[in-house]
Amino acid sequence: MTIRASAAKAAAALARPARGTQGDRAGSPLTIASIRAIPLTAPMQSGTRTSQATYDKVSIVLVELRTTDGIVGWGECLGRFGATAYADFINSVLVPLLLGQDAFAIRRHWLRMRAALTGRAGGMLIEAIAGVDIALWDVVGKALGQPVHRLLGGMGRPAVDCYASSINWADAATMQAQARAVMAMGFKAIKVKLGRPVEQAIAAAAAVRAATGDGMRLGVDANWAYTLDEALRVGHALHDLGYWFFEEPIAPEDVAGYAHLRRALPIMLAAGESDYTVAHAAELVRDRLVGIIQPDVARAGGISETRDIATLAQAFHVGYAPHVGWSGAVCVAASLQLAAAMPAFTSFECMFIGNPLRDALAHEPVGAASQLADGQLPVPTGPGLGITINLDAVERYRVDR
Ligand SMILES: [Mg+2]
Repeated sequence: MTIRASAAKAAAALARPARGTQGDRAGSPLTIASIRAIPLTAPMQSGTRTSQATYDKVSIVLVELRTTDGIVGWGECLGRFGATAYADFINSVLVPLLLGQDAFAIRRHWLRMRAALTGRAGGMLIEAIAGVDIALWDVVGKALGQPVHRLLGGMGRPAVDCYASSINWADAATMQAQARAVMAMGFKAIKVKLGRPVEQAIAAAAAVRAATGDGMRLGVDANWAYTLDEALRVGHALHDLGYWFFEEPIAPEDVAGYAHLRRALPIMLAAGESDYTVAHAAELVRDRLVGIIQPDVARAGGISETRDIATLAQAFHVGYAPHVGWSGAVCVAASLQLAAAMPAFTSFECMFIGNPLRDALAHEPVGAASQLADGQLPVPTGPGLGITINLDAVERYRVDR
């Protein structure tokens, strides 16, 4: 072959898109053929106790989205109470808005779904939109052969810092034993659940600090246990004990209360898991009422809206720490994709207690303590969310039959 012929052959190869790359579909639509929401419920391997409740099972809604060329994307919405009702809402109200549409126009679809809701910032059914939005990002990532964190054009972190969640609210000796066990897993930061009465909470916080030593980063989550006066007492004590942050000390809608705590307490406040949209997050972020905002991607409108919350946080020099809680594998993977991408990211919530909807729902481990390396969790690298769904587990845990 002559040099000229060889060069021509190389140029032709370059012009020909490789299979599985975006060249395959440059400019062409990715048509949505079907969407179905599936409510799942699974027993917890070990119950968890917060100041508000004890959980012995967990529910989510899975969203399966198929394109006309056979690509399948998965989403998840929180739907913790009433998963079947959320699934019915998605299937009957949201799905007809999207069938036959181009999956790439994710924000357009989000806004159409949002318009189907009424009320201030859309209310809790924003969680239903979150499930569909995450499925759209997954299917677009799979169509392009890229993980979502690369589509977001972000920081490209291969692994993310994390903290252990959470030491259960219990007697001080039990909490100390939990803290020692979690330290032995290799975590470099731990979150502790506290409740009432205040005296017991402060004693428990001191006991956990004594068990871990001064070198461990410790946060507290009160799950809105306190009145403003109680939160002031606990917050001062936590600061004196060298705690890192004080999460949801008071009811999430009490923005004026957060403003008061922000002025009165030296410890950093964290909140945001109870909010649904950028509009809600703005109430906490614009006056720096919190130092860390904690949206849950399966509640706060999916990847699209959570990305915007994290960008807002960045603009106001507030940290972004994804709330994960007892979510399934899809939410965990979507949260890791955002954590890898967003500049404001600070720390990932790693649930160290097993959860079948995380551990059995995907074929790959995702966001699990067993993956911990030097205090960090790996970010999935496969296309879309980077996980493959175990359909046997879906059948095992579905509750819509
Ligand atoms: Mg919390």
